[in-house]
Amino acid sequence: MSLNKISENGGVMVTKLDDLLNWARLSSLWPMSFGIACCAIEMMGSMASNYDLDRFGVFPRPSPRQSDVIIIAGTVTFKMAERIKRLYEQMPEPRYVISMGSCSNCGGPYWEHGYHVVKGVDRVIPVDVYVQGCPPRPESLIGAILELQKKIETESITNA
Ligand code: SF4
Repeated sequence: MSLNKISENGGVMVTKLDDLLNWARLSSLWPMSFGIACCAIEMMGSMASNYDLDRFGVFPRPSPRQSDVIIIAGTVTFKMAERIKRLYEQMPEPRYVISMGSCSNCGGPYWEHGYHVVKGVDRVIPVDVYVQGCPPRPESLIGAILELQKKIETESITNA
């Protein structure tokens, strides 16, 4: 957050409302506890003690109504696509999507012969950040969270 002025005796801070709100939002991203295939194991690993996403304010929630991020970690089948869309629509705005792994990005190993697989979750819901790999390592997911934080930092809620 950019601080425009700090008084000499401390305790007073002048900044833009957008900066303050963005700082609060990017420091408390709450992804939905949701995984659909093997990439979800790496996502769970990112939340565990070795990588500890908590230190970035990332705290998984069990309901879409309490979440502002959904991480699509796994193979998106046509059967599951409808559910993903419904969950996304139940999240309050502003909401964000991270596509984690080749399957979610473009169909992955099922690109050619997977008649049951959607060739990219962005055909179902809008994606903010893509993570490469099959599966991506937890470091890559952490990189995506940092990327999303940078995006949020530039947004304006008050002018929305
Ligand atoms: S990208 Fe690879 S690891 Fe991830 S869900 Fe697809 S097959 Fe599994």
